[in-house]
Amino acid sequence: MPDTAQMPFNTTRVRTLTDLRSAVAALRDGGRTVGFVPTMGALHDGHIALVRHAKSLCDTVVVSIFVNPLQFAPTEDLDRYPRDEAGDVARLQAVGCDLVYLPTPDVLYPKGFVSRIEMTGPALGLETDFRPQFFSGVATVVSKLFNQVRPGVAVFGEKDFQQLAVVRAMVRDFDMGIDIVGMPTVREPDGLALSSRNAYLSAEERAIAPNLHTALEAIRDGKTTIDEAKAGLVAAGFGQIDYIALRDADTLGEVTGDTRARRLLAALWLGKTRLIDNIAA
Ligand code: AMP
Repeated sequence: MPDTAQMPFNTTRVRTLTDLRSAVAALRDGGRTVGFVPTMGALHDGHIALVRHAKSLCDTVVVSIFVNPLQFAPTEDLDRYPRDEAGDVARLQAVGCDLVYLPTPDVLYPKGFVSRIEMTGPALGLETDFRPQFFSGVATVVSKLFNQVRPGVAVFGEKDFQQLAVVRAMVRDFDMGIDIVGMPTVREPDGLALSSRNAYLSAEERAIAPNLHTALEAIRDGKTTIDEAKAGLVAAGFGQIDYIALRDADTLGEVTGDTRARRLLAALWLGKTRLIDNIAA
């Protein structure tokens, strides 16, 4: 395998739909397969693991970087969301990504854009109880990006477990014919799930943050109840706990007698930062 650090890969950058379409057509030339990884940028090793996996599955890989205004409420962090285009492109180049798509909001949502995808099923509850606009925004942008790139495979992280379930349901329901692949969460050595939003944490908060993963493992292992774990997290310095919930991993509904696998999911605040995480349970 070539040493991509020594031999930088030529990652093409496009910003418009016209340029994207011609660049993807060139990639596809001769029947090459296209893998796709949608992101909001500020890329970390979790994102890069998805890109590497897409590369292992497909002949070519397209990554999008777009901080999607539709999935943020007016009170949320759209304006301060971390952005680092130069750093992101360098990382994508090092890992051999063929094409990076960097649309501006007017490219995705030109004047007069009026459509939305509304999801039920796995989109109900959990994140939606606290971010009611979120999955409509995600499903709408992901469906647009899928239509624009038309990949054979798209890779998503289990870090956003409910989102992965929502995307799978949307692709199935709208016959999109894209293979959705989920990847395990990449973590820091102390267990904290990598996230672009971890950049918001102060040194003190960063030291507290791994308690979330430890608490989820303790619940999974039957060492503590969810209520005890919540009290422990508040004592450790966390603020509001939006939810810690054990769900059916396939439907994200309540666990029933038909449940084949369970998932423990959490969202909570640490200072001004909202953290999410989940594990198999
Ligand atoms: P984002 O840029 O946060 O929208 O994430 C883009 C993709 O990267 C989504 O499919 C996420 O689930 C995935 N992702 C984010 N963090 C991680 C992580 N720590 N491990 C694996 N995948 C991740």
